[in-house]
Amino acid sequence: MDIQLLEKNKELTKLSFVLKGVEPAYANSLRRYMINKVPTMAIEDVEFRKNSSALYDEVIAHRLGLVPLTTDLKSYNLPKDCKCKGVGCSQCQLKITLKVKGPKTVYASDFKSKDPNVKPAFPKMPIVKLLKDQELEFVALAIMGVGKEHIKWAPCLAYYTCAPNITVNNSSSKFEEFKNKYPEQIFDGKGKINKQKILDLNLVDACDGICEDIVKIEYSNDTFNFHIESWGQLSCKEITAESVKVFNKALNDFSDKLKEIK
Ligand SMILES: [Zn+2]
Repeated sequence: MDIQLLEKNKELTKLSFVLKGVEPAYANSLRRYMINKVPTMAIEDVEFRKNSSALYDEVIAHRLGLVPLTTDLKSYNLPKDCKCKGVGCSQCQLKITLKVKGPKTVYASDFKSKDPNVKPAFPKMPIVKLLKDQELEFVALAIMGVGKEHIKWAPCLAYYTCAPNITVNNSSSKFEEFKNKYPEQIFDGKGKINKQKILDLNLVDACDGICEDIVKIEYSNDTFNFHIESWGQLSCKEITAESVKVFNKALNDFSDKLKEIK
């Protein structure tokens, strides 16, 4: 297996890499583990003390659940794996409170979190607008969870495409007949199709299926271009590393269970 970095941004909220030498099933498992099995923190229970805003408690609670919270994987466990056995303790849940009075727009940055490492990833997310004398006060409980249970715990969008193998034949007998059907940007100064331009300008799909004799595109079965976009709770590097860790643990658990079968 080989991994090659394609692109990343400074904050590591976006990451693209080439994954070489694996089966499609492995690439897909990795993708599903990133979305469904990497734990993050999200608000699960809300106790409203005051709410005279225009939105019902349920609507606000739903919005609160969807606010991405920065997650500290080292300090928190999933309730089922926690030493408290899911009862609830400081290692699997966190209290978040809010008390505001209008007129003002309530933003995620108004949350008061007991742990400075767990706070809204995007402080400017609006929750509700309060008019004069309207009030909002609640005590919320954030817990660790996984995307498989609810999408609010999913840490990212992850997808991949099979890497294309492109063969260009500029001396094809059909070149004159079909050349006008290809995007202009892929031609060099001399009117010839440049393979690198097809890749660099992301025009593979636009060139596929026009004339196989001129541009032939085949998709690899063991090389994948992986793209990850974090929702803000974890960096893409943490998501990738954690997905492999959780995947390995699942395989080990499976192997242990197999040994029990006589
Ligand atoms: Zn606990």
